[in-house]
Amino acid sequence: MLILGGTGEARRLAGLLPGEVVSSLAGRVSDPRLPSGEVRVGGFGGVSGLVEWLRANGITAVVDATHPFAAGITANAVAATAVVGVPLLVLRRPGWEQGPGDDWRWVDSLEEAAVDLPGERVFLTTGRQDIRVFAGVDRFFLARSVEPPEPPVPQRIRVLLERGPFTVDGEVALMREHAIDVLVTKDSGGEQTSAKLVAARILGIPVVVVRRPPAPAAPTVETVDAAVEWVRRGSAGG
Ligand code: NAP
Repeated sequence: MLILGGTGEARRLAGLLPGEVVSSLAGRVSDPRLPSGEVRVGGFGGVSGLVEWLRANGITAVVDATHPFAAGITANAVAATAVVGVPLLVLRRPGWEQGPGDDWRWVDSLEEAAVDLPGERVFLTTGRQDIRVFAGVDRFFLARSVEPPEPPVPQRIRVLLERGPFTVDGEVALMREHAIDVLVTKDSGGEQTSAKLVAARILGIPVVVVRRPPAPAAPTVETVDAAVEWVRRGSAGG
């Protein structure tokens, strides 16, 4: 079985299926957290490359456990598994839900988020590949990512190289220290990075939330346990 990874869920799933899986990482991070078991790193070369790889490695099922915003590899997985005729399961954690006291502004894209930001000092947690979208925006940015961003970046920026999980107390202190008055995030979901949303609520600051790309046309589960069950049932045998 192939697990398309790069998430905590993918690592946990690989850990629960010893000896049965190959995990695949894109290779974006120089020091990735590795799943247990066999791992391959790097792109496949589009749909045709993935088709070839699935055939060459005798793959009989694929779980796409990539990040909800990794729409390219997910689309490739849908297309390639259809060509090869192997079952595909998408493991996608639920998105975040707005609660009482939250001031969230939903947008459809990072580009939309960059227009008319409702604040002057922005905490940007969208990931290093997305920082470039804000390059021409005249605000102060506190940008947090795992790897350093590549230019172009905003003129006024402070980069924090950190990896979650984060705590509410830590996020409140960080936002206070930098006098943050708006948070920009993608709707990644999950508990590893949700503390910033609670911190924003506590501090009464608005959050610009980028909606997820459309869900893929494939069977989808929200938890690692449900994915294990799918595998145990014989990889979509039903
Ligand atoms: P993407 O835009 O959907 O994919 C772009 C290309 O990267 C794909 O066409 C594929 O290249 C390669 N790729 C992506 N994920 C791969 C994987 N797991 N194994 C092998 N190749 C992969 O992806 P992305 O948004 O840049 O994300 C890259 C990786 O980082 C994903 O594995 C994802 O789970 C993880 N990640 C992404 C985010 C995010 O916000 N996007 C956040 C956290 C983690 P080929 O066409 O050559 O096969």
